[in-house]
Amino acid sequence: MAEYDGIILGGGPNGLTVAAYLAKAGLKVLVADRRYEIGGGLATEQVTIPGFYHDTHAIYHMMVEYAPPLRDLALDTTYDLSWIYPELQVVMPFSDGTYLALYKDVEKSCESIKKFSAKDAQSFRNFAKISDEAMDLFLAPATYVNPIPSLEQVAKLETHPTTKWDDELTGYTPKEIVDAWFESDRVRALLLYLSCMWGLDYDLEGLGYLVPLMINRGWHLRLCRGGSHHVAHLLGKCIVENGSRIVTGAIPKRIIIENGETKGVEFEDGSVVKANKFVVSSLNPHQTFYDLVGKENLDPNLDTRVSNWRYSDWSLFTVHLAINERPRFKMAEANPELNNALIYVLGYDSEADLVNHFEDIRGGRLGAGGFNCCFPSVHDPTRSRTGQHVGLISQEAPYKLQPDGAQMWYRVRAEHAERCKELVRKFAPNMTEANILYDSISTPLDTENKFPNMKQGCFKEGAYLPLQMGFGRPNELCSQHSTPIKGLYMCGSCTHSGGMITYGPGFNAVEKIAEDFGIHKWWPEPRGVKEAKALGLF
Ligand SMILES: Cc1cc2nc3c(=O)[nH]c(=O)nc-3n(C[C@H](O)[C@H](O)[C@H](O)COP(=O)(O)OP(=O)(O)OC[C@H]3O[C@@H](n4cnc5c(N)ncnc54)[C@H](O)[C@@H]3O)c2cc1C
Repeated sequence: MAEYDGIILGGGPNGLTVAAYLAKAGLKVLVADRRYEIGGGLATEQVTIPGFYHDTHAIYHMMVEYAPPLRDLALDTTYDLSWIYPELQVVMPFSDGTYLALYKDVEKSCESIKKFSAKDAQSFRNFAKISDEAMDLFLAPATYVNPIPSLEQVAKLETHPTTKWDDELTGYTPKEIVDAWFESDRVRALLLYLSCMWGLDYDLEGLGYLVPLMINRGWHLRLCRGGSHHVAHLLGKCIVENGSRIVTGAIPKRIIIENGETKGVEFEDGSVVKANKFVVSSLNPHQTFYDLVGKENLDPNLDTRVSNWRYSDWSLFTVHLAINERPRFKMAEANPELNNALIYVLGYDSEADLVNHFEDIRGGRLGAGGFNCCFPSVHDPTRSRTGQHVGLISQEAPYKLQPDGAQMWYRVRAEHAERCKELVRKFAPNMTEANILYDSISTPLDTENKFPNMKQGCFKEGAYLPLQMGFGRPNELCSQHSTPIKGLYMCGSCTHSGGMITYGPGFNAVEKIAEDFGIHKWWPEPRGVKEAKALGLF
């Protein structure tokens, strides 16, 4: 029987992070993924025409300047990881020909905002400054440290003016926060879009402290040169070069528990792999505890918590485009740099348009809402071998459609994609049918089919709700990444610090596993975490 120190289920960014750190620490680990390729959400695929490379899931990398694995594993100097950080980050064109633009350079963004409201330009300047401080002091470090109970955390945040400010936003909804800071309807529309695009509901109370992070990341977005999968590829190299192993097409049947202890994994092909120290699951709580551990091995407390776990009701509808000629936007006729934005947010002329879209989503309707789109090959020529272009339309969309539920996506997907392309054409007239060579559509149901851990297409393996964050993610029994079952750990985005490509859940799981097994921590404590601890914030 094959034996490893540890088995990691799921080779997405978090599972790979765990494996890479532990392999480098000298452990022999096995990463097992059910798909035929590692990477999970770090996927770059030729889903349209050969030679056109599409990031089919994560495309915008939002924590590059903070994420410890990128530095600790030296993926840039040992290998060839590099990032593209476009000057013009987000543009929101309106139907009357005006537009709002956010740049890396806050002052340039203020200039754009000033055309709508001088007061908002100043508010944005202030918001950028305080949200930068909040990111450095607390929000980014909190991503890379295991959580403490909420009341304890709140008391600590009270001790510093910036973190106090951030914490005081908690009780407000994203819309209330944006409305309190900004007066222009259009500025509000853009900043509310940024607040919500990763899964916060516009009227959700209790997670307002995340709004500065969500907005702030709106001008810190990078593309991975060569496609997002390149990060997974390099993490994989790191694992293998340090003597560990990755298997794909490996579907676990059960996590073997004997006398309350984790002993290994049995796979669907009948093979059994022994884990001498631990099994780490990057899967969601239902997969981990119900499908693989089995209810019979759960104590009632854990069972109740797992059964209470909730997924988002909405996810992303995407259309990947192979394009002959890059889009030329009408608004760029007077200012060509507007053709070089990383993200275009289209289809919202007001905050009310956005709110109506969210209400449509809540009601299971596709409605007439907008989306964001991106043309990565404009920034990274490696995305197309032919010198042509790739594009992405990415729309927040319900998992279940009215009246027939998720299966209805099969019937409406093509028609809906046409409507989205039509909207792009309204702003970039050269995006004609002839210019779009091919497209590939993915719905929230497709996401769930591809990644069962993203149930309902929920790309965070669990909704962002006040009781499902921090010390409650995925529940207070498992929030330190260990579980009540000896030798069983969790590391997916259902754990702290949540979804998206932050590597936070993986990094935090590694910290805990290293502590529990006395593994030499060859990596430094993240600088931000050290500084925040010195300030008494954790
Ligand atoms: C359409 C879309 C667009 C997105 N865009 C962005 C973006 O631009 N920026 C961003 O930061 N984030 C984005 N995300 C979110 C991001 O991809 C996820 O939050 C992130 O990948 C979660 O990482 P993870 O390691 O926890 O899980 P995953 O990346 O989902 O990895 C889990 C792995 O487990 C495997 N698996 C599942 N079930 C089993 C099983 N039973 N046995 C074994 N293996 C299994 C899967 O095959 C997968 O490889 C997007 C997600 C989607 C769906």
